[in-house]
Order: sequence, then structure tokens, then C-alpha cells
Amino acid sequence: MTSHLIEDRLSAELAAQLKELATTGLTRRRRVLESPCGRLATVDGKNVLNFAANDYLGLAGNAEIARALADGALQWGAGAGASHLVSGHLAPHEALEKEISAFTGFPRALTFSTGYLANLAVTPTLAGRGDAVFADKLNHASLIDAMQLAKANGADVQRYPHNDVAALEKMLAASTAARKVIVTDAVFSMDGDLAPLPLIFALAERYDAWLVIDDAHGFGVLGPYGQGSLGHFNLPASPRVLLMGTLGKAAGVGGAFVAGSATAIEYLLQKGRAYIFTTAQPPAIACALLKSLHLIKNGDTLRAKLMARIGQLRDGLAGLQLKLLPSLTAIQPLVVGENDPAVALSKALWERGLWVPAIRPPTVPKGTARLRISVSAAHTEADITQLITALKELS
Ligand SMILES: *Cc1c(COP(=O)(O)O)cnc(C)c1O
Repeated sequence: MTSHLIEDRLSAELAAQLKELATTGLTRRRRVLESPCGRLATVDGKNVLNFAANDYLGLAGNAEIARALADGALQWGAGAGASHLVSGHLAPHEALEKEISAFTGFPRALTFSTGYLANLAVTPTLAGRGDAVFADKLNHASLIDAMQLAKANGADVQRYPHNDVAALEKMLAASTAARKVIVTDAVFSMDGDLAPLPLIFALAERYDAWLVIDDAHGFGVLGPYGQGSLGHFNLPASPRVLLMGTLGKAAGVGGAFVAGSATAIEYLLQKGRAYIFTTAQPPAIACALLKSLHLIKNGDTLRAKLMARIGQLRDGLAGLQLKLLPSLTAIQPLVVGENDPAVALSKALWERGLWVPAIRPPTVPKGTARLRISVSAAHTEADITQLITALKELS
């Protein structure tokens, strides 16, 4: 068979599956931004207010961070050249680890080029044959993939209903696993609600379990100095906690960290395949992140502004038929219900210059299609007013 015939046959099979996506209205499209990430996005020459990004503190477009990135690249070059354990662990990476450990209060930290990778490095490394993983049903996709890997490694994997501490306790009480690992988002990415971390932490203590916390949406935003969800709940940097935080959301750059006890972090460094077998992020990114961490730590003004905008939005939409989910965080989901009206509302907002993505199943449960409004400290009071006015007129 000639190569183009083979390709035709292989491609036809994929094309059939793509067509299936299209007929169920689930084909996804990317929009090309002609502007940097910020409160405004230019798409096809049209300016829209951006309520889609996770840039909660408005740091993605921060000039000081961009300068640190550029200076870092001039000093340290473009790439790390190898994985951390071979020759890719440069001084800026080491400095960033130290800074993250000091900032989060954990004895040690590792950095990763994405949060997805960081999550893959934790749970499957900690839990294998004879061990058990207990995971919230609404955990982020990357935690679910991590859980699948743990399962492939022989771990018993159980999922408890969202934030259902009683169900979690039952599972823990019934488990005879050697090592127990509880895994939860701190702030749930499609609902904006918080996990009841103090209760979950108490269960981890009672049943002597590890607690893996994904703070992708709390880091930089919640707690004193933007330390994150543990700070928000005044929980200690306990040796049974492994804290993951992403650095591409509030931190505005990219990458992630895992912080924990010196032994737990050493264990991940020695055994975490998703840490070992990948090239270290470019050192200039670490330089940018050092600047970003400094701005987060000194970012009370930004956080106050963000909280004011969140409050303004919630007050402004209080009388609306459609309801915002109860969320204290920058993620403010407006539940519409069925898919088509959610998509239609998102489209009508877009036509008015407001970019608010519609989120549909399977990302969220059936019948709970929603607009996911991401609020940022970069938004002005007038931006939020514009969104409130449009939603009142359209819904
Ligand atoms: C975004 C996100 C991740 C993945 O982080 P990336 O750095 O984007 O790969 C992991 N967990 C949660 C809860 C997230 O929202």
C-alpha cells in the first residue's frame, strides 16, 4: 500500500470520530489572541473584555516579570538543556525552590514545567500495590489522570462524592491499605468552591493518611500574603501534606511546584517519573517566577482589588434568575443548565465584547452547563459593571 493510501485509511477512522464530536456539538475551537493576556483581548481585530483567563492578579502582563524573564534569558540562556537530575538544575531553579519552600512554610519544594506534570509526579509515586487513593469526584482532570496511573501501579482507587467528608471517612475506616493517600483540589476549578480542608486534614490525621492538595486556584489569591488555601484555613505545613500549586494562574508565568517534608520531597525527586524523565523548565522562567513570588507576597493591594471586584459581581448579579454558585474565589460560575442556552448566552456576551466561556458536560455534570466567569485584579469597576449590565439584559 502506498503511504498516502495508508494515511487515507488511518485518517478516515479518526475523521469518523471527529464527525461524531461535531454532530453532538462538542467540537472545540481555539481563538487566536492578537494581544498579550490581560483585561482586554484582541481577537480577529475585535477587542473583548477577558473573563476567561486564570490570570487572577493580572500578573501575566506585568512588565517587571517580563523584564525578569528577558534578563534571565540573557544571563542564563534559552533552555536548561537536560532534566534536573542530569545537568538541567541551574541556580535560578534552586533559588526558586528555596523561595517557594520559604513562602509556603514547607521544608522543601520541587518545581515542574506544568501543574499537569506535577500532579502526575505525586499520587502515582506515592501510591502503588497495596496502597489506596481516596479522591474527590470533582478533582481536576490532571489529578484524575494521576489517579489512573496509581491504579495502573496497583493502587486501590476510590472516589468520594464531592466534598463528602462522611463518605471519605467511611472509605478510610474500611481500608486496610498500607499507605493511604487522600487527594483533593483546594479550590474546585469549575465551581470555585473550597474543599473542607480542616475536616479532611483531621481525617488524614485520624487515619494516618497522606494528604495531597492541589491549590492551583488558591495559590496567590487566598490566605495571608496569597500563601494559598492552607493559609486561608490556618492549617500547618504538616509532614503528611503534599501541596501542589500552579505558577501559570495567579503567578502569571507558567510551571508548578510541589512542597512538603524534606523526606517526601526527596522521595519524589528519587522516584517521581514525571519529575525525573523530563527536561527542566527554562531557567529564565524561574527568574520570572522569583519576581512573581515577590509581587504575590507584597500583593495585598492586588488581592484587595480582586476581592472588591468579586464582591461587586456577586452583589450585582444577586437579583438575577440565573444563580452564581456560592464561591469566595476568583472563579464565579453562573449556572445556566442546558448546553444550548449556555452556549447562546456566551455567544451573545461575546457579541457585546465580553468573553465569558461556556462550560459543558463532560467537564461539568449534565444539566449544569454554566458560564465560568474568571475575575481578575486587572478588571476595573467599569468592566464588572459592563458584565453585570449585559447579563441582566440577556438572561
Ligand atoms: C490548571 C490546573 C492544573 C494544571 O496546571 P497547569 O500548570 O495548567 O498544567 C492542575 N490542577 C488544577 C486544579 C488546575 O486548575
